[in-house]
Formats: sequence, structure tokens, C-alpha cells
Amino acid sequence: MTARGAPYLEGLNTEQRAAVEALDGPVLMLAGAGTGKTRALTCRIAHLLNTGRARPNEILAVTFTNKAAREMKERVGALLGTGIEGMPWLGTFHSVCVKLLRRHAELVGLKSNFTILDTDDQIRLLKQLILAADIDEKRWPARQLAGLIDGWKNRALTPEKVSGREAADFNHRGSELYASYQARLKTLNAVDFGDLLLHVVTIFQTHPDVLEQYQRWFKYILVDEYQDTNVAQYLWLRLLAQGHRNICCVGDDDQSIYGWRGAEVGNILRFEKDFPGATVIRLEQNYRSTEHILAAASGLIAENSGRLGKELWTAAEGGDKVRLIGHWDGEEEARWIGEEAEAAQRGTRGNDPVSLNDQAILVRASHQMRAFEDRFLTIGLPYRVIGGPRFYERLEIRDAMAYFRLAVSPEDDLAFERVVNTPKRGLGDKAVQKIQIAARENGLSLVEGARLVLQEGALSGKAAGQLRLFVENLLRWHQEIRDASPATARTAAEDDDLLIEPEPGGVAPANDLSHVRLAEQILEESGYVQMWQNDKTPEAPGRLENLKELVKALEQFENLQGFLEHVALIMDNDKQETEEKISIMTLHGAKGLEFPVVFLPGWEDGLFPSQRAMDEGGLKSVEEERRLAYVGITRAERLCTISFAGNRRVYGQWQSQMPSRFIDELPAAHVDVLTPPGLYGGGGFGGLSSSPAMEDRAARADVYNSPGWRRLQQASTRGAAQPRAARNMIIDASGESDFEIGDRVFHKKFGYGEVMGSEGDKLVVEFDKAGEKHLLAGFVVPAES
Ligand code: ATP
Ligand code: MG
Repeated sequence: MTARGAPYLEGLNTEQRAAVEALDGPVLMLAGAGTGKTRALTCRIAHLLNTGRARPNEILAVTFTNKAAREMKERVGALLGTGIEGMPWLGTFHSVCVKLLRRHAELVGLKSNFTILDTDDQIRLLKQLILAADIDEKRWPARQLAGLIDGWKNRALTPEKVSGREAADFNHRGSELYASYQARLKTLNAVDFGDLLLHVVTIFQTHPDVLEQYQRWFKYILVDEYQDTNVAQYLWLRLLAQGHRNICCVGDDDQSIYGWRGAEVGNILRFEKDFPGATVIRLEQNYRSTEHILAAASGLIAENSGRLGKELWTAAEGGDKVRLIGHWDGEEEARWIGEEAEAAQRGTRGNDPVSLNDQAILVRASHQMRAFEDRFLTIGLPYRVIGGPRFYERLEIRDAMAYFRLAVSPEDDLAFERVVNTPKRGLGDKAVQKIQIAARENGLSLVEGARLVLQEGALSGKAAGQLRLFVENLLRWHQEIRDASPATARTAAEDDDLLIEPEPGGVAPANDLSHVRLAEQILEESGYVQMWQNDKTPEAPGRLENLKELVKALEQFENLQGFLEHVALIMDNDKQETEEKISIMTLHGAKGLEFPVVFLPGWEDGLFPSQRAMDEGGLKSVEEERRLAYVGITRAERLCTISFAGNRRVYGQWQSQMPSRFIDELPAAHVDVLTPPGLYGGGGFGGLSSSPAMEDRAARADVYNSPGWRRLQQASTRGAAQPRAARNMIIDASGESDFEIGDRVFHKKFGYGEVMGSEGDKLVVEFDKAGEKHLLAGFVVPAES
């Protein structure tokens, strides 16, 4: 194949081209951020199609987010132009597994119209089981059990396979409760997220004929962000690729950030063992970022141990250094970033204007988003929150979704429980209990239980009438859905051609809008809209607006089921909007993306690295956080700004913070330290400072004596009980300690103490209460004298 017949090959370097052209056999592309892994993968799909090696539906490509999958689809389309019919199976592990599971649901005892539970439902269900098992939920919370079960599912362990000490977790009842949870899900005809993969792996393992069918079907398998696959995903891939071994995985061990969800970097190492003779390709040129940004990121990640180790270089020399700035509190940080974003948009400071669409704020924890949302709403700066389940988490949306779920599958007991008495139908706890007992004793779903209760006349008066109406409505809506889309009742056996399958979760051009009308009808007939119309609280109008928006969102889908799946799977705010907006998202959600201008707020110990990572203490968890920091910096193309705040309100509580240890680890030569103007009544530090500003103690003392500091300290009501260092505002990026023997210092955990010795950036401190400790100078602050 010449480059003429394949113009997409021209934009690749030699190594990328090798990765694209090595079509047969296992290929592992292992390379750092921004080296064009995803680009090579996309070209590989184009090449497979263009050379006629595979028809579109014979290619299975797995990406990590729906956003990434969508982008890849678009890019393949653009590379090939028109002329190729159909599209590869391109999606996340979850979305591909939903498709597969719907076809073969009966093999694991489910019906093809199973419901996908969200975390809330999962927790509610587990609570019930914990209660039924006579365990004190206060001591043994459902969330903990949910975590355990998820962990097992990520490792592809069914209840029977959980063994040894682990099975005895959760008050010796772990695996037992796991088993009853799975049984309960089956009766509910429901799955949780982890099940999507687990069930498909189980099907592949127990039905070789089904596995063979797909091994033949998917001739070529491609995986992006391979470093973040967990054991279940790995097994799934290995099973599918075993026959032809045409599997190409691309990844970067330095960007492995899902260890907490069971991802195993070890999968990268296992690849060569499981697929002997694999072609391994390394890429070293970074095409994304300018020099200082790449150098800062590389310097930081070098602190991690046990890396596979890679050198990265960029042809984009020079550019801006990574900017670093400290703020008094989170609100101040948000205010400053808003101004900077607007300044960049206007192109002040001699730079070209940068559209808001090309700017992103990447946060460690989603609670950080609120300060930005509040600020941006106030000043009218358009923003979008990406990957946030926010809209779909709202009460009225969840209620409405429960009605839709019931209409799609009336046996969805969790949805039934949620709305049976919303709006009020005079059904108190007692009445609901009667229904539950009737259902349980007869092995029925709640809706059938309710019918039984009505038949037996166990309820009377208004409540009975209302319940009857509720049940009749449900069944009528359900019938309408069945009449409208016989496809959902189709069995797997009838599905002989994968190509004709409508994309279950996909966004399809909607020509038939009957499901939208049905949705409106459901919300009206159930009395739900009326309930909010009669509500006199200030939130009610907003809730009605949201319901309208929900119905509007439905227009994008072929049917209610597709919509429910979409919501369950992605929670991804991906409206096609024309207005320019700055993006706010989590660092996890930003994987694989790139932006010319990136803000990284909240670099404080306890937030980033997270308190949890620090408490666990293990090097491993802090290293994972460091990889996340590396992912963050490497998203930036031209300008990267890191910031921290001395005080932060977290869930209503003021907390004082120390700058992140990662800040100390940034190579000073690639960092510019900024001082927020006006923080000390007109720039006590002299405004912008390009070198570590605070190098002697006298200067630090000045900070504490400066009117600005005093004012700020007094202004802080609950926080700031302890003296904080200049370090809270200014970074000592030199890596040298400037403490002297005999200095009094303060440490967040050990309290007050005296410096006994120092070497480089390390100190020996004799603490008044905690005794002698050896620690980094960065972790103590001078005590006020
Ligand atoms: P990450 O590890 O962050 O996922 P990646 O390795 O997947 O990064 P890509 O997103 O594929 O990197 O590429 C980074 C940027 O470099 C993109 O803008 C891409 O278009 C560009 N790029 C990749 N390869 C080349 C090339 N050979 N020539 C010019 N630009 C390239
Ligand atoms: Mg990528």
C-alpha cells in the first residue's frame, strides 16, 4: 500500500507508521503522553478498512470514555471520507458489553431488557440485604460492601470464586451477601456496572460456541488506554483475541490512574507473555506540548519508582513555563482563574486569543467544581461540566427516570419503590410493606405483588383506588412501548446479523417521536408534573424546567430504552453547542484529551494527593496520584497553570491546607511562580516573581508580619488556627531547606518542634510531643516566634 492510496499514512512518523502497518499478530504500543498513540490507533482502523483486511463490523475498538469513542469514530470517518459502509464496533468496554449481554442475557438467567442499576440503586439494594441478614448497617455500611463487590467483579470473581480470607470480609458475611445480591439482581432482571463485564466473561467461559462466534466475528481488536484495564477486561480481551491474535493495545504505564478501580498496570507486562512474539513499538516524540510543559511533567513523574521508563522530546522548543500560584482560599482561586480565562480569550499579554473551547479546568475531586460554577455564573463566563452526572442526579430527574424504567420493565422493583408513593397516593409504609410481603411470598415482582394485594382486597379506600390506577397506568405504558418497538422483545437467536442491530445506547436520528410523546404522557398521567405544579417551594419551577429538558433530551433517541441506557452508561454532557465554553472536568475524565490552555487548581496535600492516598500511606497510592498529576500537566499544549489555596471550604467546613508535595517535585527551571496581585494589599511580594521568592527566613517573617497576612488570618473564621508558612503562598522550588538549627517549626500532624539538623531539603526535628522525626523541610512551617 503506498501513501498515495492511503493519505492518512503521510501524517505519521516512522514508528507510528510501523504500528499502523503491522496489521497481523499482536502489537503493543507503549509510549508517553501526547506521542500520537491514539492517532496511530485511529489510522490503523482506517488502514484495516482501506486495505480491505476487514469490514467495518469485523473491527472491535475499545476506548476508555464515550467521548473518546465518539472522537475516534469521527476521525476514522474523516480519514476515509465517504465510501465505507457501516462503522466498526467502537465504544467503551461497558457499552460493547451491554450490546453483547442483551443478545445472550438468557445464558446468565436474565432477560434481554434487563435494567442497569446506578450506584444509588445498588446501595439501596445492599442496605436491604444487610438488614435482612441482621447485620448492623451502621457498623457495616452498604457502601463498604458495594466497594468489596465491585472489587471482586473487577477481578472477574463470581461469588463462588471468592475464597479464603476475602470471603470472610464484611463481618464474615462478604461472599454470602455477594451471592444473595447477585440472586436478587437476577430476580429484578437487573445488572450493576461491574456485571456488564463479569456476565459476558462468564458467558464466554461457559459457552465456547458463543465465544467462538465472536472470535470469528471480530477479526481485529484494538484497545486504547490499555494501562487502565482491570482483570475482568483483560480476560475478556484475551478470550476474544485468543484465536487470531490480531490485537493491538496502546498505553502508557505513567498514565495508569484507575488502580483504585482494579486496573492493573501489570496487564501491560503480561501482554508480551500472553501473546509471545508481539511487536512492541515505542514512540518518543511528543507532538502535543511545548518544551517546559513536557519537562515539568517528566520531572514530576521521574519521582515514581518502578516505571518502565521512557524518554520524551518535543520539537516545540521554548514557550511558557508552567505557572504556579498560591491563593488565600478556593473562592479566590476560582476568581483568579475566571479572570485568566477571560484574559486568554481576549488575547491580552501579547498572546493570540484562545477560545474558551480550548481552555479547561481539571480538578482532582468533583466537589472542587462548585466554586468555579458559582463564580462563572456570577460573572457570566460560559462553562460546561464534562462527565458530571449532575443533571441526571437531580431528584426530579431520578423520579422521572424511575417512571420511564417502570414503563420499559414493570418488574423493576427499585424504580417501583421509588415512585409508588410519589406523588402521594396515600400508600404509607404499611401498605408498601403489604405489597412487599405479597411479592416475596409468591416470588413476584412488586407490580405483580400490588395486583395480588388489590385482588385480595388487602387494601381499601382511596389508597386501593390510587394503587390500582398506578398499576394500570404502568402496564398500559409498557404495552405501548412493546407495540411501538417489537425489536426489544426480539431474542438473541433471531439476531443473526450483527449489522442490523440498532445501536442500543447510541444517539440515533429520531424520525419517530412516539416515545417522546409517551414520556410526556407518563409524567402527566402519573400526576408527577401536577405534583410540582402544586408545589409552592422556590425550587419547583426549576424542577419543572428540568423535566422539560429531560423530555427534550429524549428526542435524540430512538426509544426510551436506548435513552435509559445512555444515561446509565455515560452521564456525559455532550450537547452540541455553538457557544464557546470553558470546560470543567475531573482529571480522570480528561485522560486522552488535550487543550491549548489548562488550569490545574487545588494542588494541596489532602486534596491532591488525596487524603485517602496519603492515609493509606503506601507509596503505591501516592504514586497513582502522581501519575494523575502527570496526566493533568500533559493535557496542556501551550499554557499550564497550577494553583493551590491556603484555605478551602470542603462540604461546609473550612480547612487549612499545605501545598501539594507534587509542587515541590516540579523541576524549578520549568516553573514560573506568580503572586496573586492585591493579596497583600498591593503585592507584598513584588508581584510576579520568576524565581523562588522566599529564600530566607527574614522574608518569611515579613509575610507573617505583613498587614495583609494578619488581615487574612483574622478574616478566616475557623481556619488558620495554626501559623502557616510562606510556603502556603510561595513555593520554595529550589529543593533546599532554609531552616537553621534551633528554629522552631510546626508540623500539621506532629505539632511544634525544634530543628536539630538539616541536609539538603531534609530536616531532623525534635518534636515536643512526637519526638525525633526525619522529614522533608516542605512539611514543616516556621512557628511564630
Ligand atoms: P495520550 O497519552 O495523552 O492519550 P496520545 O499518545 O494518544 O496521548 P494523541 O492524542 O494521539 O497522543 O496525539 C497528541 C497530539 O499530537 C494530537 O494533537 C495529534 O494530532 C498530534 N500528533 C500525533 N502524531 C503526530 C504526527 N506524526 N505529526 C503531527 N502531529 C501528530
Ligand atoms: Mg491517547
